[in-house]
Amino acid sequence: GSGAQRKRSGAWARTAADPGSRPGARASAERLDDAVTILRGIGPRQAEHLAVLGIRTVRDLLYHAPSRYRDFSRLSRINQLRPGEDATVVGTVWDVKKRRIPAGNRHMLTVVVSDTTANVQCTFFNQPYLEREFSIGDQLVVSGKVDVWAGRLVFRAPEWERLERDLVHTGRLVPIYPLTQGVTQRWLRRQIKQTVDEWAPHVEDPLPRDLRQRAGVVALPAALRDLHFPEHAAALDAARARLAFDELLVLQLWLMRRRRTARARPGIDLSNGRPALDAFVAALPFTLTGAQVRVIDEIAADLSRSEPMSRLLQGDVGCGKTAVAGAAMAMCVGAGHQAALMAPTEILAEQHFANLCRLLAADGFTAYDPASPDTGGHRLARLVGGMKAGDKAAVAAALAAGKIDIVVGTHAVIQDAVRFERLGLAVVDEQHRFGVLQRAELQAGTSPASAAVPHMLIMTATPIPRTLAQVINADLDQSVIDEMPPGRQSVKTYWLGPQERERGYQYIRHRVGQSEQAYVVCPLVEESERLASPSAIAEYERLRTEVFPDLRLGLLHGRMRPAEKEAVMADFHAGRIQVLVSTTVIEVGVDVPNATVMLIDGADRFGLAQLHQLRGRVGRGTAESVCLLMAHDPSETAAARLRLMTETSDGLVLAEKDLATRGPGDYFGVQQSGIVDRFRFARLVPGDPLTRAQRVAGTLMADDPELARPDLAALRAEVEAFSAGAGRI
Ligand code: ADP
Ligand code: MG
Repeated sequence: GSGAQRKRSGAWARTAADPGSRPGARASAERLDDAVTILRGIGPRQAEHLAVLGIRTVRDLLYHAPSRYRDFSRLSRINQLRPGEDATVVGTVWDVKKRRIPAGNRHMLTVVVSDTTANVQCTFFNQPYLEREFSIGDQLVVSGKVDVWAGRLVFRAPEWERLERDLVHTGRLVPIYPLTQGVTQRWLRRQIKQTVDEWAPHVEDPLPRDLRQRAGVVALPAALRDLHFPEHAAALDAARARLAFDELLVLQLWLMRRRRTARARPGIDLSNGRPALDAFVAALPFTLTGAQVRVIDEIAADLSRSEPMSRLLQGDVGCGKTAVAGAAMAMCVGAGHQAALMAPTEILAEQHFANLCRLLAADGFTAYDPASPDTGGHRLARLVGGMKAGDKAAVAAALAAGKIDIVVGTHAVIQDAVRFERLGLAVVDEQHRFGVLQRAELQAGTSPASAAVPHMLIMTATPIPRTLAQVINADLDQSVIDEMPPGRQSVKTYWLGPQERERGYQYIRHRVGQSEQAYVVCPLVEESERLASPSAIAEYERLRTEVFPDLRLGLLHGRMRPAEKEAVMADFHAGRIQVLVSTTVIEVGVDVPNATVMLIDGADRFGLAQLHQLRGRVGRGTAESVCLLMAHDPSETAAARLRLMTETSDGLVLAEKDLATRGPGDYFGVQQSGIVDRFRFARLVPGDPLTRAQRVAGTLMADDPELARPDLAALRAEVEAFSAGAGRI
């Protein structure tokens, strides 16, 4: 039975290790960070190849994670093989034949392997040197996919190794590594096996036994071993969970410690500004929702303390976060300080500027005009990359001189170009674009260590699952707007197949005929917005000339110049453009209530969070809105995403699902390449390690916030290294 077979496979795994060619250094904890060339079998040339994979030290090699595994753990008798399945057999070499195939001048090597039940052919192409490897009578283990050729079962180019060796390539869960030129799968696998066997036991575990038990994680040496050569799937899961846990624990401790230090620094009491806040609210063209009122009170209370606020405002798209930000900024200016609002894109910054000019007009604010800088009243200025250099310089100078009260711009421009005279509040909109580490950089950047720290309000429409929010926002207080302005309807979402494209266009035509507007979002051809632009351009041309020749179309993509983008957005706002063809540049924040239809082409290529953000661009007025998802032949997981989109418009439900299927990568801001590496395991492992990391970090912060316990020295060093690296991203 399979139980007996499994036992046998366990026994193979413990035969002697390969002696290798040249003696390497003796494994020890001290030499883990030495170059890989100290290892047996790795010379300078191999080290160069490995460096391309980011592997420089012995430790790097231990952490070089397989990208996937093939399950060759099931041992079969040859007469039980079935075509199409992955299988492993043990047998004796019966025959070895080399043939030349005239077509293309290729070599084919056929090795016939037999056990007591039957025999099977193994074929290898264009590896003539392999002939020397096999002799009749050799005992082999062969793993691969069973194929049929000329009516007979065959393994094509299978993995194989000799039975007397410790099994590395066959008969188990076999790791498949990312490779590069000059590094073969077989060579790397064997090298890592040897390194894991000898060196992993010497890796010091930064987590003492009591904390490991509290966390419910396996020891680090075992995790490293099982990451590469797990005995079974559960061991692999435990290994990944441990490695993810380590990354999250360090992040968590770092955030919690930052919160402690931030709290200890002096803040700015803005309580004098409360009347200005009340006046702002009274002058709004609408009545605030209960949730907006509650959140504004939470923020006003923070601003009235002499401790810097670090607050996250979470609320689904369209819930009215801008008005809340306006209220906070009005209070800040009322108290005699400056405020800044930072957005991730220029389009969004422009839109915020226009909205705030409108909302703050009644409070005596006017737009800053460099031509007449000294007229009275409060000043509101914009600062974006697309402005003329002279204008930018003028705004920056006026901010430094304290002549501007509120500046609205892109995060990048404000951070790079501006010194404030008396910044009291920084508002960061749509934070999910930044990620947790960029946020840290922002806070560090706004003030020198000694001075009073401005209050910080971060706004996000990306609902974050509660478990994750507690971890990645451990340095922030949280407010939630869980109520929509009256009259909002959920957006009806439909998934259209390729043959329904015409119907989608007809529907757009129908709604535009009722004086409403539409978005057509084009698929991303490449990851990067820049590369995606041409697909939008081509699609725009096609729609303009062939599909909607009688309608007014506009085009928006990331590669356009800022002035062009601004003009297009202004035309769309004013209704001069009826159908806006766009890339995902409209993903965040864009607010045109008269737009009621969105068609997302290639919807299978977007993640859930992104689809939800895009969909949030419609349904912002009182008219019923519709989102049409077009997808050609989506993968199984993409189909599941699309189905979920049609079933719920609840951002939190979508976020929980997204986290469960994809892991939390996006929330860390892994678009930034430097960050990918910091959460190599955590970004992929959903759920569980998050809560464990939070629990353990919480206990540590309560018992020993300085991590002074002697056996926590290694952990403390990791947190400090993380902290030192965080600002550089
Ligand atoms: P988001 O939270 O996505 O940033 P916005 O602040 O852009 O949402 O608000 C969406 C729309 O709702 C805007 O047009 C805004 O003027 C409007 N709005 C905000 N609060 C209210 C309210 N209490 N009543 C009615 N409309 C509101
Ligand atoms: Mg917004």
